[in-house]
Amino acid sequence: MRLTTLGTGTAAPSPTRVSAGHLVDVGSTHLLMDCGSGVAHRLAAIGADWMGITHLALTHFHADHVLDLPTLLIAWRWGAIPPRTAPLEIIGPEGTARLIESFASIFGDLVGHPDFPTSVREMAPSDTIELGNGVQLESRPVPHTTESIAYCVRGGGRRLVYTGDTGYDEGLAGWESAHGCDLLLAECSLPDDMAIATHLSPSRCAALAAALEPARLVLTHFYPPVEAVDVRATIQTRYAGPVVLASDGWAIDIEDI
Ligand SMILES: [Zn+2]
Ligand SMILES: [Zn+2]
Repeated sequence: MRLTTLGTGTAAPSPTRVSAGHLVDVGSTHLLMDCGSGVAHRLAAIGADWMGITHLALTHFHADHVLDLPTLLIAWRWGAIPPRTAPLEIIGPEGTARLIESFASIFGDLVGHPDFPTSVREMAPSDTIELGNGVQLESRPVPHTTESIAYCVRGGGRRLVYTGDTGYDEGLAGWESAHGCDLLLAECSLPDDMAIATHLSPSRCAALAAALEPARLVLTHFYPPVEAVDVRATIQTRYAGPVVLASDGWAIDIEDI
């Protein structure tokens, strides 16, 4: 299992961090989790096989997580020759089909009815689905927007958990599927002195990591003010494992951990 953090930024325009998007490769399954502005171009910038994405899973419907969905759907038709023919599965919380219909009402059939086979699979707040090739995706509701979910990806004998956007929550901290995972990819939006109930801060990430005990903690989704504080020092007060403050294009082979 390989993770590439494509977009480690937020809604704040940044010269170095595009909006949220992360690629998980497990064998022939290529899962893009979230797809905010800049993610499509970042895929090209790092030389990723953007045509080869097999599944696209959204955590929630904030613009910084979904706006490059139409960009990619159009790219798969007009962005390369020959155009895409392989099937694509779009996954997300309840409301994902409606979101795509809304995009289609603006951008037309390229988004609503692409030439290649597409399917939309909406996940219940606590759900598990098979992506094929032995890869499973599990969801769990998190406190951010009403539809927001976190994901646990299982495949190749590994487990990766992505919080999406979330506040701190005892339910998430006690999520059995996430406990002891190989890698926890957690949002770290705001410094502690700006903390709000719907996002994580360094000390809340530390508490989450202390509870879930992942083999490795990778942080993402940095609003500019959190870049000015010593995130790592705060994490290390509660969590002794390796901590990475991800950047766009950073990647890790989880087999090598
Ligand atoms: Zn966000
Ligand atoms: Zn959000």
